[in-house]
Order: sequence, then C-alpha cells, then structure tokens
Amino acid sequence: MTPETRVAVITGAASGIGRSVAVHYAHRGVHSVIGTFPGDPHDPEETLRLVKDAGGQGVVHEVDVRSTPSVDAFAERALAEYGRLDYAVANAGILRNSPLGEMTDERWDDMLDVDLTGVLRTLRAGSARMTGGGAMVAVSSIAGGVYGWEEHAHYAAAKAGVLGLVRSVAAELGPRGIRANAVIPGLIETPQSLDPVNSLGPDGLQRAGLEIPWGRVGRPEEVASVIGFLTSDDASYVTGQSLIVDGGLTIKMRA
Ligand code: NAD
Repeated sequence: MTPETRVAVITGAASGIGRSVAVHYAHRGVHSVIGTFPGDPHDPEETLRLVKDAGGQGVVHEVDVRSTPSVDAFAERALAEYGRLDYAVANAGILRNSPLGEMTDERWDDMLDVDLTGVLRTLRAGSARMTGGGAMVAVSSIAGGVYGWEEHAHYAAAKAGVLGLVRSVAAELGPRGIRANAVIPGLIETPQSLDPVNSLGPDGLQRAGLEIPWGRVGRPEEVASVIGFLTSDDASYVTGQSLIVDGGLTIKMRA
C-alpha cells in the first residue's frame, strides 16, 4: 500500500461483471474486497487468481446483500484488511422470470431485497466508511432503467429504483466528497444472461446480438471498464448520473 492506493468493495464479484471489475481494478492498482455469495456455484478463488495474475491484490469475503449485518461486515473488511475504503460497487443481482399472475408478494419481495435494498445496504455501508471521500457505482439494467420487460416486472422495478436511489444518495453525499453513479448494462454475456430459464440463454443472446448496432452482445469487461471510469478521478465531476453500456441497443429505432 502507498498513500495513493485505493481500496474497493465489490458485491457479486465471483462471476460476470463483478469479477471483471476486480480484474479491472487490479490492473489499476486498486485493491479489492471480492464479495462472494456462498449460495451460488461461482468460484471466487478464480477471481482472486485473475486479480493476482494482473498484479493486483484482493481478499475474498462472503456476503449476502439481503442482510444488513453481512453487508456491514463486508465493508468493514476493507478497513480491517487495508485500513481504508474508497470505492463501493453494488453489483450483486438476481434475475427471475415471473408472469404478473404468478407474481406473489414473496417473489416480489425476494427480488427487491437483493436488487434494490441490497444496493441500498451496499451504498450505505460503503459510504459510512469512506472517511476521505470516495465513489460508488450501482448496476442497473436496460430492463427497468430504459425498457419494460414482460414477465420481469419485479426485476425492472428494482433496476428502475436503483436510478432514483443513486441520484438521491449522490445529492446527499456530494458535500462529503462521495460521488454515486449507475451503469445501465444492455445484454452482457454472463452467467445471468446465459440462463435460458430466467433470461435469454446462449441462443437468445446470439440472436439478440444480431439486432444490436455494434453487432454482438457485450463482454463483462466492457461494463467493468465503465464502472472503473466512474469511480476514478477521471469522473471527478460526474455524480448522480447513469451511463448506458449497450452497444447501441437502446438507440436503434424499430419501425
Ligand atoms: P452474475 O449472475 O454472474 O452476477 C451476479 C452476482 O450476484 C453473482 O456472483 C451472484 O452470486 C451474486 N449474488 C446473487 N445474490 C446475491 C446475494 N443475495 N448477496 C450477494 N451476492 C449475490 O451476472 P452479471 O450479469 O454479472 O450480473 C451483475 C449485475 O449486472 C447484476 O446486478 C445484474 O442484474 C446486472 N445486469 C446484467 C446484465 C446482463 O446482460 N448480464 C444486464 C443488465 C444488468
């Protein structure tokens, strides 16, 4: 550690976009607390290996964003391990398919607990420990952040809610030197989107890619680099914003 070394906590970093954020940070000398959810089959040690291969440093920490004590302990790990916290990336999320007629209160609540309240818990715990200013990013989605999505009302509501949450947090924390922004990914190839039951699956992604102006679906590292930009000093005057990362998917008019 040098006085310039920055420290990040990243939820959902054992796979997909979160893993790529940890690797991106490793390349830039940012140390990461790699959040992993034990209920899922992802391998956080693989994230740590990639971080170390990139010349970075990190520690793996189990966190369930449905639990405030768990998220508080996760953010605290940054202080215990590295003595500071500068960046928080609220990336963890789940995606479930549910037609409106089958949308029980329980399904609705389970989704919002992870995809919206989980973001609140992460931003709250992270900002409380950023004594020297900092930056936070929450991961929304074009589903909710831009579009509606049939049979995914709870997911879209949570992801739309993330945008209001981020704007409000940004307004509140600006005076403390803490910025908060959101990314709105389009279709990114990760375990979530490769799930054919709750999302598009491999074939659906392949077909959808042909409709995207950039000609393909996105890679997790293409979202991670934007998250890295938004937390970096290059974005020192950007707060309360959301940035769409979708290869042009949402700007193409369909007649
Ligand atoms: P992913 O499934 O690889 O990543 C999600 C991560 O969240 C997993 O590592 C999972 O273990 C973790 N997680 C799930 N429940 C958790 C809990 N209760 N506590 C802590 N962690 C938990 O998929 P991804 O695509 O990398 O997803 C990252 C984020 O990007 C999610 O918020 C997702 O909704 C969002 N997103 C993804 C896409 C896409 O096309 N892949 C598009 C828009 C938004």
